[in-house]
Amino acid sequence: MNDNQTHSQNATEFLKDRERAHWHDETLWFVRAKRDKAAHNIPEWEALRDAASAIKEHTLSRLDEYLIQFEEKAKANGVHVHWANDAEAHNQIIHGILAKHSAKNVVKSKSMLTEECGLNFYLRDKGIEVVDTDLGEYIVQLREEHPSHIVLPAIHLKKEDVSNTFHQHIGTEKGNKDEVYLTRSARKVLRQKFLSADAAITGVNFAIAETGGIVVCTNEGNADLGVHANKVHIACMGFEKIIPKAEHLGIFLRLLARSATGQPVTTYSSHFHRPQKGQEMHIVIVNNGRTNQLGREEFRGSLKCIRCAACFNTCPVYRRSGGHSYHTAIAGPIGSILAPNIDMKQYADLPFASTLCGSCSNVCPVKINIHEQLWSWRQKLMSEGYGGFAKKASMKMMAGVLGSPSVFKISGKLGRTAMRLMPFAVNNNLNPWYKGREMPEPPKESFREWYKKNKKA
Ligand code: SF4
Repeated sequence: MNDNQTHSQNATEFLKDRERAHWHDETLWFVRAKRDKAAHNIPEWEALRDAASAIKEHTLSRLDEYLIQFEEKAKANGVHVHWANDAEAHNQIIHGILAKHSAKNVVKSKSMLTEECGLNFYLRDKGIEVVDTDLGEYIVQLREEHPSHIVLPAIHLKKEDVSNTFHQHIGTEKGNKDEVYLTRSARKVLRQKFLSADAAITGVNFAIAETGGIVVCTNEGNADLGVHANKVHIACMGFEKIIPKAEHLGIFLRLLARSATGQPVTTYSSHFHRPQKGQEMHIVIVNNGRTNQLGREEFRGSLKCIRCAACFNTCPVYRRSGGHSYHTAIAGPIGSILAPNIDMKQYADLPFASTLCGSCSNVCPVKINIHEQLWSWRQKLMSEGYGGFAKKASMKMMAGVLGSPSVFKISGKLGRTAMRLMPFAVNNNLNPWYKGREMPEPPKESFREWYKKNKKA
């Protein structure tokens, strides 16, 4: 991922390896198809989506009450609760806890929030080693890359890439691509990390206001192993992870894994309510721009997201451009809504990285109107001057053409003639629409001409 480039520039680089891009597209489509099968196997699927959406909307409308209730219950359970207004505060709080315990080695179970806050690099600068223990995260961490997908962090890599990475960093046999061998080798290293760590950090999938407990979903059991093998557990959550009652959890757990990978449920849904004897448990509740999003009527619904990544897997742009093209911690359609909330200038390109086909909204288990929000962001960014000169000029020109029937008629005619007589004028690399696709053959007549003729007949 190149943070200084736009989505389309990063995507151009990703697409240079056509074979890999094709494979990436097909792999994610396979996951999407599994999701469809899992969803269709449940007759009440749509009712579950409606219920999940309603619970999240209700929670967002009374977020202050539920967060305070959660804090009180968690404290009563013996948990230390911290509030962080931004990424810096989040990182400082965690560093403070680790410093108090003289912790130098930390095991972490997948948390996209810590990615969003840049925690690993922050702690590395303070001399603390953080090891991501989810296998996919571990692979990308060894490569000094960011996850390219929130559920399948190393989905952009093939077996050969993993084999080379492990050979280089943990000394596996050169060229050995056997999955069992590679997984066992990683497990051996990670076991040692779990046993020698001083603290464990986890993410939070759901935080229950009624009980003050948190739930972490993993397929590898690494959250449990990290927490139980260590004296200090720090859980990091964005404040939108709250749900009102324990009875609501079943709805979300049924939707989450099916939407993510087509599994009926994640292998481990681990509940943490209080520290074990002799252990310390901390929860860091993070804002980091979420209150802005909450206050923006048209984008508030994005905070319902349960990070299943179904919208990634179905998105034709994500599948063909790869997660790193999005130059943000959370890629894909939902990332393109969340990122401009944090920095409109830096992420102004992302809401345009979509066909607006609506497939993302159709699969979203909490019924977020993703493609409509992307469209709203486009309007907001353009009207607030973040669209860039070329886009602004071309939109102005298009408004002139589409706003006048006679100009539209003449431009259409000129365009069709030019494409027929001088195809090279449009079929060249200066035309972004030409890159990666065949330009269509221009029709001999416009629809208006065809209609006139056929109406007479
Ligand atoms: S926006 Fe919806 S589909 Fe996308 S990750 Fe969030 S919950 Fe899943």
